[in-house]
Amino acid sequence: LGSPSRKFHGNNRLLTSQIISHYESINQGKKELPEYFNFASDVLDEWARLEKVGKKPANPAFWWVNEEGEEVKWSFEELGSLSRKAANVLSEACGLQRGDRVLAVLPRVPEWWLLNVACMRAGIVLIPGTSQLTAKDISYRLQASKAKCIVTNDTLAPAVESVLPGSQFLKSKLIVGQGSRNGWRNFKELLVVASADHKCVKTRSQDPMLVYFTSGTTGFPKMVVHSHSSYGIGFATTGRYWLNLTPSDVMWNTSDTGWAKSAYGSVFSPWICGSCVFVHNIPQFQPAVIAETLSKYPITTFCTAPTAFLMLVQHDVSSYKFPSLKHCTTGGEALNPEVFAKWKIQTGLDIHEGYGQTETVAICANMKGMKIKPGSLGKAVPPYDVQIVDDRGAVVPRGEEGTIAVRVQPTRPFCLFSEYLDNPEKTAASVCGDFYLTGDRGVMDEEGYVWFVGRADDIINSAGYRIGPFEVESALIEHPAVSEAAVVSSPDPVRGEVVKAFIVLAPAFVSHDPEKLIHELQQHVKKVTAPYKYPRKVEFVQDLPKTVTGKIQRNVLRSKEWAKV
Ligand code: ATP
Ligand code: MG
Repeated sequence: LGSPSRKFHGNNRLLTSQIISHYESINQGKKELPEYFNFASDVLDEWARLEKVGKKPANPAFWWVNEEGEEVKWSFEELGSLSRKAANVLSEACGLQRGDRVLAVLPRVPEWWLLNVACMRAGIVLIPGTSQLTAKDISYRLQASKAKCIVTNDTLAPAVESVLPGSQFLKSKLIVGQGSRNGWRNFKELLVVASADHKCVKTRSQDPMLVYFTSGTTGFPKMVVHSHSSYGIGFATTGRYWLNLTPSDVMWNTSDTGWAKSAYGSVFSPWICGSCVFVHNIPQFQPAVIAETLSKYPITTFCTAPTAFLMLVQHDVSSYKFPSLKHCTTGGEALNPEVFAKWKIQTGLDIHEGYGQTETVAICANMKGMKIKPGSLGKAVPPYDVQIVDDRGAVVPRGEEGTIAVRVQPTRPFCLFSEYLDNPEKTAASVCGDFYLTGDRGVMDEEGYVWFVGRADDIINSAGYRIGPFEVESALIEHPAVSEAAVVSSPDPVRGEVVKAFIVLAPAFVSHDPEKLIHELQQHVKKVTAPYKYPRKVEFVQDLPKTVTGKIQRNVLRSKEWAKV
């Protein structure tokens, strides 16, 4: 894993690194998984203790800002005390019991972090949902999860109210906002009067802690159950080596609260490393605001989606200075090597790409200290044994394409999801032989780096040639005319299917002769990648269909193509 540089001094060195190395040893199988584990009492309260005795660098646990200039900063001690109050709100004011589920549909407000910790303390299962959900989505989630309580804000409360008649499991509703609303309890007001005395429940490592919805890139989102140890311990290696975090670092991850990436980058990885979680509550991704934030605050570690990095390099951040920034990471979608190269030119920094799913912690990553191969997902992150397997679950030779898989025999890694909620068939279907199948296609090279080819459904089979969209898109993006590209299969009478590229043009090329441009782009792809991969069909579009997390929905484009037949 290389030997990342530490910046501890004197006594700090031993004490602060002990927490991280303890959990990392569990990740690496050198220590056994404890029978009981609770992230709040075993990790957060430990950091609070070290903070109190001056054995931790003076860095807040949580630092939140918004566009109105408001700011919230909590030490680990304050996070502890506020989350104990919040746990009492859930248990007492809302009457929730251990094991009950709470749906939290909130933007990036500080209360969302309190709820995370409060639920751990009370043994309540938190289900985060993005604040972009509609009434129909909320209704589906309430029914599917049988949540007994919902926490949301003023903006979303009417949507919840509109679906109440069909929500028979819901017992209480909490609002995070100012003033009162009929039928709702005010979370902030309850928090003020709640007691800060709370005894954290003793949870078993395998007890359920969280349910996250998948992004729904390929269909309806799935509900993924994680245990206390899974996300609670499983991000120790990720935090230390992929995100390069120490207790002196300030980590900013831009994800929406509703997706597992917020657990990855805004809760578990930074906090297990004793780092500060930085949050800017911006309603929309604006490159200028992102760049200004990186300039203004002492953010050392930054994580955002590949699409966001694309927008940042197109905006051009060369003129900004990011005085504290030293480590950049991305994941959730493929990062085109062109974006990696431009970011390096504009900021002098590498982007450390990682790969994971809602169902997992980080599976592969370009970790600190490792040679980065732009365009690759990096190497397996312990404790996962990552292999490329064929349709029967047999490992294929290096260099051959197959499904990216994680070994689950003889033991299923503790940091793999427990199940898809109430869906034993889907849970069973995710395993083949000794492996959990990610559903993504990839290749492992001789050095153990994994290369993403595409989601299994996105692979194009043209006259017997299998073509992954990522490589073609990466080739297209290199051309100055291409702002964004999505590549899918399109029906063809002779070849069965052919490669079709949907392209958003860079503004300077919009007025160019389309026929000439198509020819030029095709020639370009033939030049930079194997010629059979070139897009035989090209269509220029204004924008690409995306999920709320910004992932390209190739399945939407593909369905339209095939519907024309
Ligand atoms: P759904 O399962 O509902 O269709 P989803 O798979 O997009 O949605 P997530 O769990 O948020 O939901 O995303 C995980 C997926 O994202 C991976 O399976 C993979 O397809 C993609 N992904 C994650 N990281 C990378 C990466 N670095 N490069 C390419 N793809 C990635
Ligand atoms: Mg998925």
